[in-house]
Amino acid sequence: MEEYKVLKVLGEGSFGRVLLVHHGISDQKYAMKEIRLPMSSSGVENSRKEAVLLAKMKHPNIVAYKESFEADGHLYIVMEYCDDGDLMQKIKHRRGNLFPEDMILHWFVQMCLAVNHIHDKRVLHRDIKSKNIFLTQNGKVKLGDFGSARLLAHPMSYAYTYVGTPYYVPPEIWESMPYNNKSDIWSLGCILYELCTLKHPFQANSWKHLILKICKGSYNPLPSHYSYELHYLIKQMFKRNPQDRPSASTILSRGCLTKLIKNCLPSEMIKEFEQVLKETKKHEGSAARRKGSVMAGGSSNNRKENRRREDESSNRSPLERKNITEGLSEGTKEQRKSEQEGDIDLSHVHRRQWEKRISNTVLDVLENASLLSSSFTPEETESGGVINYCEKKPRKQWDKETPRTLMNILTNADVSLAFKTYTIYKPAQQLNEVVTKMQML
Ligand code: ADP
Ligand code: MG
Repeated sequence: MEEYKVLKVLGEGSFGRVLLVHHGISDQKYAMKEIRLPMSSSGVENSRKEAVLLAKMKHPNIVAYKESFEADGHLYIVMEYCDDGDLMQKIKHRRGNLFPEDMILHWFVQMCLAVNHIHDKRVLHRDIKSKNIFLTQNGKVKLGDFGSARLLAHPMSYAYTYVGTPYYVPPEIWESMPYNNKSDIWSLGCILYELCTLKHPFQANSWKHLILKICKGSYNPLPSHYSYELHYLIKQMFKRNPQDRPSASTILSRGCLTKLIKNCLPSEMIKEFEQVLKETKKHEGSAARRKGSVMAGGSSNNRKENRRREDESSNRSPLERKNITEGLSEGTKEQRKSEQEGDIDLSHVHRRQWEKRISNTVLDVLENASLLSSSFTPEETESGGVINYCEKKPRKQWDKETPRTLMNILTNADVSLAFKTYTIYKPAQQLNEVVTKMQML
């Protein structure tokens, strides 16, 4: 700690602070995240996860990890300093003046490269939003804030705990379905939409309407002067069924993005990456050919089924496909382990799970609920069970006194809070058992 001199506070949140520091030995500036460690040992382990996961990532579009250490009840994560703010600020500063398409694509391709990297390492970010995309003055985009990230036992696993920022949360979460890499793709779609319109795709003045809009996937079209490619990407990323959304590598294999990659990656990475994209393209090509032959001969039902299978497989990343062909031999052991950890491998019940309608979803509950108020004062909100963060209180404080259902929390929470990050542990599928813990900034 003595090696670092604190220059200023860059950001503050429920976890603690992010400081701009100067490292004397290297004469470099860094961002240092100072996290108050909880009392329980499981809480401490959980806090350490952020440092562990960030340390695993090595990519030009992901905030680089330097080191981490613990002192005086705090965990310190030292990382690369991004000196040009975040994407949310950039969007706000435009004051309605739309970004040119080449600027949007220049940022978007870098975000896709970052997301592709983490998904290849089986990590879900789970809190992708414009506020967690940091910028540098030399035009680089860096995915940051791995505080909600999660390592899956293997690529076809799903996470059951819900985390994220409600405005960016995909329909499957509201419908009590598990989270996987395609949920991050939805959130990435929200950022692309924000870059094109300077607005959030799903706006509402109550939680009920917000969730209904997200679950219907209904959003206003992009301004018409943007290309077909952008319109198409948004449409694909906002598919309600996660399996129908493209993976990050499928997005990157689209011509308009592929040609931009060479400006973003160092030459040694470009070669490796071109190979991955070639595989993605090859796979998509053969899927399309199969589709052609089916179109010529098959019955309409067969055609539909084949198309669905092809879409699903072409939307998988090469890594996912590799594991499918290789039969996921570690599956059973990994599965048992991951179930204990709260991840459940559903690769074998994949499709049926999605199609099955779970009766008691948040959406159903909200359909029957009276309009939610969005005008609560902080005091009223607190008495309703939403305890706003305050400096002196420890980070995770939602358990125990808080109401037992998600509905209770949502009924009493101001919709503006839907831009904050939450964690809700779901011990079972039933929503009335849903909430044991919730974290809020
Ligand atoms: P959380 O969202 O959990 O509060 P973040 O990791 O997003 O934590 O950090 C909070 C804020 O601190 C960010 O929104 C950003 O303004 C600032 N910040 C975090 N990391 C960096 C970084 N590497 N470089 C510059 N600013 C950063
Ligand atoms: Mg953040």
